[in-house]
Amino acid sequence: MSTATTSPLRCWAEIDLAAFERNLKRIQAALPARMRYVAVVKADAYGHGMPQIVRRLMQSGVDCFAVANVTEAADIRHMGAGWPILVLSPLLPQEDHFVVEYDLTATVSTLGECERLNALGQANGCRIKVHLKIDTGMGRLGIWHRDAPALLTQIQAMPALQLEGVYTHFSSADSDTQFTEVQRERFLRALQSERGLAESLLIHADNSAGIDTLSNDSPYNAVRIGLLQFGVPPYPKSALGRVAVEPIFSFHTRIGLIKDLPGGTDISYARTHQLKRDSRIAVLTAGYGDGVPLELSNRGSVLIHAQRCPILGRVTMDQTIVDVTDCPSAQIGDPVVLIGKDGAHEITTTEFSEQAQTIPWETLCSVTKRVTRVYVGSREL
Ligand SMILES: *Cc1c(COP(=O)(O)O)cnc(C)c1O
Repeated sequence: MSTATTSPLRCWAEIDLAAFERNLKRIQAALPARMRYVAVVKADAYGHGMPQIVRRLMQSGVDCFAVANVTEAADIRHMGAGWPILVLSPLLPQEDHFVVEYDLTATVSTLGECERLNALGQANGCRIKVHLKIDTGMGRLGIWHRDAPALLTQIQAMPALQLEGVYTHFSSADSDTQFTEVQRERFLRALQSERGLAESLLIHADNSAGIDTLSNDSPYNAVRIGLLQFGVPPYPKSALGRVAVEPIFSFHTRIGLIKDLPGGTDISYARTHQLKRDSRIAVLTAGYGDGVPLELSNRGSVLIHAQRCPILGRVTMDQTIVDVTDCPSAQIGDPVVLIGKDGAHEITTTEFSEQAQTIPWETLCSVTKRVTRVYVGSREL
């Protein structure tokens, strides 16, 4: 039974773990056999809930987890020993020791970081696992590609560092295949100049959008997948012919109040909407305090009884007002779909994000703590 009828909640996100697992299988099936799957689960697994998502990923058999920071990494380590965990962001010097404590793999971009970690390894009598990140045009983390060969040589000479991977990150894999090619070329050139790179190295560049242009005869042997595994294509009309994923996330609330108001009445803060006719409005029990973006004020719509109902006026912290004049069966307590399917209609995460002038990644990260995650499709063990 869907959570719409059973949930006593005012606002909730439903996460379909069975669909998640189907997505993983489809993505893995679409990748060349040698490709290792690095599951990106930063930011509470894109808002889906780290423990539930990570557990399912462990059951499904991924090769490595990637997170933003050591706190997220520690959460995964507590769930299972032995899993490789790559920290994608730079470590703060204050955090270095966690790498030893939790057996993590660090990302390095500079000689300074390498020296710090080498000293840490020496002090602890161990080797610190690192991936060298190369900046091929993202302008964020990584050593600038022209300087990468020199740093690679230096790393290999550091006794307490163990180089396990080399990677780069695309800035525009979802919008500019030409620039992505430039980045691929820069990356491969940086690697070519280095003879004797161990075959055991993980070589990776592709995020969800990248795998569209990933060719079979490349040195890459791993991909870093975030958004796609959660069932959201990285760009709207993506060719991702290789992988058809299904949404796993839906976002729900309820009608808290219904009332009739005369035409001309102002709706919500700052009076940005005036009713054009005598209307019936429904006040929903979710607002930006739950993750309904303020940007949806006067633009978005929701699904009630499988009908689209427009948002009126400003979204507020705890409530959102919609027009139900044309949906006379709507009643207090009824479920409302913010993202997801209702009858023949669907509001996808992508559509919701476009309406809110943002991107699906931000939408998923913006569903707040107040919103209970309800998991369906659990696995019998
Ligand atoms: C977040 C992240 C990814 C995953 O990107 P998606 O587009 O969500 O697949 C991959 N690599 C790095 C470095 C990231 O920060």
